[in-house]
Amino acid sequence: MNDAVENPAASDPPARHWGPYPIYCQTPGCVKSAQYKIAAQWSYGQTSELKTYALSCADCLPRWYAHALARQKECCCVEGETLEAPCIYELCRGTRDGELPRRRELERQLRPIG
Ligand SMILES: [Zn+2]
Repeated sequence: MNDAVENPAASDPPARHWGPYPIYCQTPGCVKSAQYKIAAQWSYGQTSELKTYALSCADCLPRWYAHALARQKECCCVEGETLEAPCIYELCRGTRDGELPRRRELERQLRPIG
């Protein structure tokens, strides 16, 4: 029985979503690399996609999240269009977009009370 023999060539290709270069924080003047992604699920009829608001370092995250919350509020949706509350995802190198870990505790911390 050779079923357990590993065959590296047959395994999934490594995720190359971000390439070999670092992603930088989107704040103008900020030179740190991005650590988080702020995105919200948008849908219209059968179409739905994850809209990205920002890629941000930890320091700039509160400002970007506030910005994303404000954008959600002012979005006057047409019938059938929905925009969910923005979520915070942790950027992990080599992880595909749909598999990024969500940081709900950060969302709670940064969400204004009331
Ligand atoms: Zn920054």
